[in-house]
Amino acid sequence: MPRSLLEQNARFVAGEFRTHADYYQHIAVEQHPKVIWIGCADSRVSEDIITGSRPGTMFVHRNIANIVSYNDPGLMAVLEYGLLHLKIKDVIVCGHTRCGGIEAVEKGVDEYCIADWLCMAAGAKERSDRIAAARGMDAVEKLDLLAMENVRSQLGHLNRLGLIRELRRQGAELRIHGWLYRIETGKIDVLIEGETGEPTELLRQYE
Ligand SMILES: [Zn+2]
Repeated sequence: MPRSLLEQNARFVAGEFRTHADYYQHIAVEQHPKVIWIGCADSRVSEDIITGSRPGTMFVHRNIANIVSYNDPGLMAVLEYGLLHLKIKDVIVCGHTRCGGIEAVEKGVDEYCIADWLCMAAGAKERSDRIAAARGMDAVEKLDLLAMENVRSQLGHLNRLGLIRELRRQGAELRIHGWLYRIETGKIDVLIEGETGEPTELLRQYE
């Protein structure tokens, strides 16, 4: 497998990179990404491909179940560098359907590192349990709901970070978007509008 990746890289160099040499030479000097992307580590959710973006568009952090954890130094460094140094104004948290992390939150998991990590989705689980019970949802609907509620919950974590609160206090332009990528169709749904911070109808229907 790694060999085939290198072969595909050779095709990238000879094709896309050579065809758009000016662009790649431009971004070789310095990056000016417009978005911080916080997504799931899932192999099927490649942010560049699903949004039709070239390298240089997004500053990226991915982990299992697109979780925002205040004590994750990797994510905190991405946010600090992206917001303060790259001056990025838009942060997207993108969850997805058929997420193994979300399934593990739903079913419970014993493996210690994964279980510890997924504690950060406990709030979303409690909320989706309540809504699903009240509405008599089936297992598939409930997993989709949990994926959506997890995005809502992680946006809540982001909004409470000291760094974000301080930037807002200073009047910085900052929009935080909540999205859901549907693996079955390839479509991205907006759950929370970055401009207003308000949930769209898709999410509001569960309030
Ligand atoms: Zn996932």
